[in-house]
Amino acid sequence: MSRRAVVSHQEWTLQPDRESDAEPTSYAMQCVVCGATSPTETDYMAPQDWVFAHGGRNPSHHTYRETITRPWRAWWKP
Ligand SMILES: [Zn+2]
Repeated sequence: MSRRAVVSHQEWTLQPDRESDAEPTSYAMQCVVCGATSPTETDYMAPQDWVFAHGGRNPSHHTYRETITRPWRAWWKP
């Protein structure tokens, strides 16, 4: 998954950052009913566990959204 674009006469490339020093991908879940949000974690399972705990305390809350934060890098060739 990458994109290229010419900006100011330079060819830019944009790509997910998979370098060893890249920020980690992180995950969080938010309850759409009440807006409560799980902690942000680098393990996607932990926010899903939060959903089960939240649903257990709030049996009418059935709708959630996931936020995934993924590092990207952009560069251009001289
Ligand atoms: Zn809720």
